[in-house]
Amino acid sequence: MLGGTFDPIHYGHLRLAEEMLELAGLRQIRFIPTGTPAHRDVPQVTAAQRSEMVRLAIADQPAFVLDEREVKRAGKCYTVDTLRELRLELGAQQPLCLLMGGDAFLQLHTWHEWEKLFDLAHIVVGYRPGFTIEERIVTAPLPLREHYQKRLCAATTLRAEAHGGIAVLGIPKLEISATVIRSRVAEQRSIRYLLPNAVAEYIHQHHLYAPC
Ligand code: ATP
Repeated sequence: MLGGTFDPIHYGHLRLAEEMLELAGLRQIRFIPTGTPAHRDVPQVTAAQRSEMVRLAIADQPAFVLDEREVKRAGKCYTVDTLRELRLELGAQQPLCLLMGGDAFLQLHTWHEWEKLFDLAHIVVGYRPGFTIEERIVTAPLPLREHYQKRLCAATTLRAEAHGGIAVLGIPKLEISATVIRSRVAEQRSIRYLLPNAVAEYIHQHHLYAPC
């Protein structure tokens, strides 16, 4: 599962997912747009619009699916609750991976019930090739560092267990962020080639991120 605000989804997210699919030998990637984000500002567009943009962006990759459970849930959304739900649906044996960028992983200790995540899924972190996460994990809080050291394994071995591993994959990070896309739209600058055309068209058609 790849959670995110996807406000909007862009090629940084899509390349991260495509590389992880390949490098970790995943069968499917579920894109799960957040409902009411637990530790971010409330997004500018509706959850239904963020979700629709994900649908448009992944339409031509059969291994990518949209999972709208967080968008449809009332109240705060915590990843741990989503994983609990998925576990119930998929059963205890199914290996499940929570995918994230290196920046998100280094903040994992701030997530609600974060240590429970390891009882539910593996964590697969996309990190810039040539850099090691060790350089930054040294400044992370001790509990996160300990989990990292204890659980680190090769992505290819994750399928042997249903949950509990941490794998780091060297994935080039495209210098694209949703923040940059939102400000470019607000400044009436081009967003072409930063995200799929269908998503750019949707943004323009619905006047998203434009100044009032
Ligand atoms: P914002 O700019 O609004 O903070 P964002 O572009 O970082 O948004 P999120 O929806 O917060 O997007 O990201 C969801 C996940 O995708 C996170 O795990 C994040 O680390 C990862 N991610 C975001 N942008 C990139 C990128 N350019 N390359 C690789 N991973 C990315």
